[in-house]
Amino acid sequence: MNERVLALHRVMDQRSLDVIIITQPKHVAYLSGYASEPHERFLGLVLPRAQEPFLLVPALDEEAARAVSSITAIMTHKDTENPYHVLKRAIRSTAKRIGIEKGHLTVARYEQLSAALDSKQWVDINDSLQAMRAIKTTEEIGRLKEAARIVEDVLKDGLKLVKVGITELDIVAELEYRMKKQWGASPSFATTVLSGPNSALPHGVPGLRKIAGGDLLLFDMGVWVDGYASDLTRTFAVGDVGKQFQQVYDIVLEANRLGIAAVCPGTAMKQVDEAARGYIEEQGYGCYFTHRLGHGLGMDVHEYPSINGVNEDLLCEGMVITIEPGIYLKDRGGIRIEDDVLVTQAGAETLTAFTRELTVIG
Ligand code: MN
Ligand code: MN
Repeated sequence: MNERVLALHRVMDQRSLDVIIITQPKHVAYLSGYASEPHERFLGLVLPRAQEPFLLVPALDEEAARAVSSITAIMTHKDTENPYHVLKRAIRSTAKRIGIEKGHLTVARYEQLSAALDSKQWVDINDSLQAMRAIKTTEEIGRLKEAARIVEDVLKDGLKLVKVGITELDIVAELEYRMKKQWGASPSFATTVLSGPNSALPHGVPGLRKIAGGDLLLFDMGVWVDGYASDLTRTFAVGDVGKQFQQVYDIVLEANRLGIAAVCPGTAMKQVDEAARGYIEEQGYGCYFTHRLGHGLGMDVHEYPSINGVNEDLLCEGMVITIEPGIYLKDRGGIRIEDDVLVTQAGAETLTAFTRELTVIG
């Protein structure tokens, strides 16, 4: 059994579970090495307490699963069978306390599962999986580094085509085209390019606004590498953005630096948020920094932990988080500088290295 499955067995002991049924495809991949999107069909990794763990996969995927899965017991269900009945037969002992991912199981699936297994005790084990995922292995860190390197190359390449008069969506289309064509990569979330007043919207959607002189131009983008994401934001000046925005830029930059400098194993996450936010508040822009400082990054673009002002959890070596302070002035423009950071024994290693100095483009 691999390390991750063994760790889940310990969770089973600690929480007195009879069986764990993993249904989130990313978690099935994390634990077995078999990555698949089964759509409406049932895919599960099942760990009964007194029985070898097994995968239950759609029959048409059996070969694909056998080729890569480290879990060698593979059961299948045909399209003409009820997978929950197959599951019931495959679990040989009575299962009373069952570990599931409540955030992933829909009510419809839960009803079918509970009708088949007749259990009254369902325990959410998602937090255990999130905690396992938060500490990255050397291999995972390698993928995250590669994802960071590629997105920086794509951004660097894309900046060359920015000029006054083209639209935000023109730039998005070019970035994603080049990303696929030159790097064989796909975006880890919708590539975001926001210009002028649109950059003041932390969750703005790119549109047909034309880039104009004096605009701030904000890029927020990432790519997948073997299932691991990068997440990078840089804000540029198209020509002269004026004195106030130059000052605001320096404040965000210093907040980013202070946030990264605060990253260290054993430090409370809220202290990292405070390090960056405190500086922005001191400079008089506290109410314009409207979101948390950052989030965990890995198989999801946003995952545990949340780096916010009330999270007292401690940073641990091997976590990868984002540090992304921003200041947003409504109807005028916003500036955010986002980096991906690995928590190391010594403090922090920044995975993203793209220049943070205010750069004039266009
Ligand atoms: Mn981002
Ligand atoms: Mn982010």
